[in-house]
Amino acid sequence: MFDSLLSGMEPLPPMPENETVKGYAPGSPERAAIEAELKAMMADPPEIPLIIGGEEVRTGRVKEIRAPFDHSLVIGRYHEAGEKEAAMAADAAMKAARAWADMHFRDRAAVFRKAAGLISGGWWKKLAASTVLGQSKNVYQAEIDAVCETADFFRINPALAERLYADQPRSDAGESNIMDYRPLEGFVYAVSPFNFTAIAANLPSAPAMMGNVVVWKPASTSVLSNWWLMKLYEAAGLPPGVINFLPGSARAITGALVKRPDFAGIHFTGSTSVFNSLWKGAAENLSAYRAYPRIVGETGGKDFVFVHPDADVDAAVACTVRGAFEYQGQKCSAASRMYIPRSRKKEILDKLVAQTRELRVGSPLEYGNFVNAVIDEAAFDTIKGYIDRARANPACEILAGGGCDKSRGYFIEPTLILSAEPRSEPMAEEIFGPVLTVYAYDDSDMDAAYALVDSTSPYALTGAVFARNRHDINHALSALRNAAGNFYVNDKPTGAVVGRQPFGGARGSGTNDKAGSVLNLIRWVSPRAIKETYSPARDWRYPFLG
Ligand code: NAD
Repeated sequence: MFDSLLSGMEPLPPMPENETVKGYAPGSPERAAIEAELKAMMADPPEIPLIIGGEEVRTGRVKEIRAPFDHSLVIGRYHEAGEKEAAMAADAAMKAARAWADMHFRDRAAVFRKAAGLISGGWWKKLAASTVLGQSKNVYQAEIDAVCETADFFRINPALAERLYADQPRSDAGESNIMDYRPLEGFVYAVSPFNFTAIAANLPSAPAMMGNVVVWKPASTSVLSNWWLMKLYEAAGLPPGVINFLPGSARAITGALVKRPDFAGIHFTGSTSVFNSLWKGAAENLSAYRAYPRIVGETGGKDFVFVHPDADVDAAVACTVRGAFEYQGQKCSAASRMYIPRSRKKEILDKLVAQTRELRVGSPLEYGNFVNAVIDEAAFDTIKGYIDRARANPACEILAGGGCDKSRGYFIEPTLILSAEPRSEPMAEEIFGPVLTVYAYDDSDMDAAYALVDSTSPYALTGAVFARNRHDINHALSALRNAAGNFYVNDKPTGAVVGRQPFGGARGSGTNDKAGSVLNLIRWVSPRAIKETYSPARDWRYPFLG
């Protein structure tokens, strides 16, 4: 029977704990295990098919997957989907829809809870190693993403869904009122970015958990790890057709899906421009749809760190270095503009420059490297373009880094730019690479400084303020209330944890439906209110008529 009719009858179990982060210290068992897995994976590059209705489909249009840190290294091949396969995937999803929607939530959730269990029990090696090789994350970045955050989504989302199902209206004596949290009528189109394996896990699985069927298009630069996610779903017992795996041409797949009457929603994470084009595509086809599609998108950012004049400078600098340069700045939440008080400019810049120069750049297979390769040549060229233009800009000075080398892999040094202009290109635009631009504000007018932070970019994803005095913290919280959907006090603006810091931003950063919270899950249900009267009226006349 419907989930909502069966839930709420028993006490809810406590919220699950987050997956423990492994340290990979020298001599640790996880270090030995990941090294063995990396070797095995490099020795045996897979040929990756599409998965449609549980069947492997090979189109013959094959693309190579190369490691970003060594483009001579082929780590896999994948078949590309086009329009025809997109239609097949949507048909397969719709074929699976009824049985999946009718399955009790406890059973649907068990698939994902089992997937989390499989990750902790050994699959972590596959997810971490494929993320290291395919997306050029060092083992620690792969661990917090592909292993821990993925397992967290699979455990915490079901617990949140149970709480949603248990949220039921009041019933008076003589009646029963029930909210039936139905899945959407149609399929959800999940389009994932390259930069987080966990996001690629969450985008199809969150709607699926709520009873929906999904056509999932992974990014072309994360197919290897995303393929292992698909294998994990199969190992966890996900019925065929519930999630269909469709790497391939974004335009052709989107073009085929967006016209269908059963197009029920988009679950997207990626750049603002692509999200806008998806939204426009849906709007153009609105009259063709059975229902208004749910459109959920988390997009770009230009995330700030604001250092108050009385801040703990050592904390501000260390956290900014991590927030700006971990995973080469390719996190939507990465610190990419920093505001420092003029009164402490020299002290802060000296520390920032020294620490940035200490970061080693190189292959993620060598452990001492904090910064690894960026994802591909297009990203390399874009980021280098920003650095070159900053070098030529009289308002900008490159204080550290700036070197770029794509001879073997796509390596860009962590780069620190000082901008005398508060709204220069690197202060205002999303660069999505290891580039941090600093502006020294006039700390005799704090309101003006906050107004500048608030108005410099179209985004509002993450931001951090470093300050000690509670009045100052409150001032920043209030002045920057709409400048970030995830706001950090005395911490770096990256590293949101599922269930603890629900993630997402507004303005140009997306619909702010907060991945890893019930607010996101609500978007994947279409509630029906059911009233049953135990003793219905048998006479149409009201007493007032007398
Ligand atoms: P992207 O927009 O280039 O790609 C995202 C996905 O969209 C990929 O699967 C891609 O193939 C697909 N795509 C590209 N063109 C398309 C089209 N015309 N139609 C349909 N799909 C299309 O982004 P990316 O480079 O993978 O990721 C980087 C971007 O993602 C950055 O802007 C970053 O800020 C953002 N991001 C945001 C969040 C967040 O939570 N707000 C999280 C991660 C990444």
